[in-house]
Amino acid sequence: MRQGPAVDLTARARRVSLLVLDVDGVMTDGGLLYDASGTVRKRFHVHDGLGIKLAQEAGLEVAMISGLDQGAAAARARELGVVEYHGGHLRKLPILEDILARKGLTFEHTAFLGDDWVDGPVMARVGLPMAVADAQPEILDMALWVSRRPGGHGAVREAIRYLLSAQGRLQGLWRKWER
Ligand SMILES: [Mg+2]
Repeated sequence: MRQGPAVDLTARARRVSLLVLDVDGVMTDGGLLYDASGTVRKRFHVHDGLGIKLAQEAGLEVAMISGLDQGAAAARARELGVVEYHGGHLRKLPILEDILARKGLTFEHTAFLGDDWVDGPVMARVGLPMAVADAQPEILDMALWVSRRPGGHGAVREAIRYLLSAQGRLQGLWRKWER
């Protein structure tokens, strides 16, 4: 993980208004279950799902950019109300540039949670590059924040918890739910 006195992680987290998620290996453990017809099934974690809903409720937009384009990821995006789902893009940077242009945001407003080499070009640009615990070594090196949990096991919820906490929004959300 990149570290040093020059990096004010909390200040970077406070500027984030868009969290972009990779799908395979981040929202899933990377496993791809093929049935005999070739249809791919994926396992998503319910903690991540509620985390995404909480982020949206707090005004933190969540997007998904996947190198693969498989129905399971698109269905999960629909289920969670993630409008900015983009599947089948190994080159993720142009997709993110388009999202930012449409929303009038910059890279500084963006966090990206990734795990593998295809995420590198985007992580090199965003204000807050984040990685899951079991990301590839080069991606861990690029990240300013690394989850304790591996991909597919609540790492997304952990990232959202970190961002909302840094932004002072986590306690207010919890107070609305605790009774
Ligand atoms: Mg991945």
